[in-house]
Amino acid sequence: MFDALSDRLESAWKKLRGQDKISQSNIQDALREVRRALLEADVNLQVVKDFISEVETKAQGAEVITGVRPDQQFIKIVYDELVQVMGEENIPLAEVEGKTTIVLMAGLQGTGKTTATAKLALHLRKLNRSCLLVATDVYRPAAIEQLLTLGKQIDVPVFELGSDADPVEIARQGVEHARAEGINTVIVDTAGRLQIDQDMMAELSRIKSTIEPDETLLVVDSMTGQEAANLTRTFHDQIGITGAILTKLDGDSRGGAALSVRQISGAPIKFVGVGEKVEALQPFYPERMASRILG
Ligand code: GDP
Repeated sequence: MFDALSDRLESAWKKLRGQDKISQSNIQDALREVRRALLEADVNLQVVKDFISEVETKAQGAEVITGVRPDQQFIKIVYDELVQVMGEENIPLAEVEGKTTIVLMAGLQGTGKTTATAKLALHLRKLNRSCLLVATDVYRPAAIEQLLTLGKQIDVPVFELGSDADPVEIARQGVEHARAEGINTVIVDTAGRLQIDQDMMAELSRIKSTIEPDETLLVVDSMTGQEAANLTRTFHDQIGITGAILTKLDGDSRGGAALSVRQISGAPIKFVGVGEKVEALQPFYPERMASRILG
């Protein structure tokens, strides 16, 4: 495991080998290599700094373990810290007992938000949770159509009021409809823009305060690298998120966005998107992601 990181730490390790414990003076090169690996995996710079400083503290305080080489012990400390920062275990989507669970989807256009909405519905259906999708993106002409098509494909109903209606009103009525029908979970898809803009945030905020969701999920494209951090900060500060879905992990991104999103918002990544098909959604597992980030 972590062959790439182990390789790149080779020269740094030479200094550690032959020494029986990790110390302030002998881990600096190793820390530099970890820093480089994280930056190459597109983890945000500030997040990397905080992470490295935590690893340094833990490594310095580490007890000598007999029979374990200090370099191996160091890798384990890095890995464990990554897993811990990303939340240690998978956290499933909320389910409110005896009531309709309300999920609000947020994110920029093109991140895979609408696809993720359908993927999530299919995932819940497989868990025997009935779903209703709500189409509030009245700005992009094809958006409602796209959700209707996806809904048909997975056999999940879609609530829409056309593209002349007010998105807040569509969301409100959609949730009301789901409750009246006794639907387990209603997932509200919202409009995304290519960039964050105040109108989008204000509308999202109005939708949120109107429907009072149990989950507000930020959809983040794992290919956006460093930008994922800024995006998360803005959405979390202005809207407040309870979780995230990281998309396009079937691409060659190393997944550093996962660490940034979690560290910045404190909210868990709940799912990852691993393809264009509606079935291509998996629960997020911190351990798997830590291995991927370390390469
Ligand atoms: P939205 O504008 O955020 O609603 O984005 P869409 O759901 O329309 O997705 C934008 C594009 O990304 C589409 O071509 C999707 O097929 C694609 N896409 C979405 N999720 C994934 C994913 O996990 N992997 C890959 N490879 N493509 C994805």
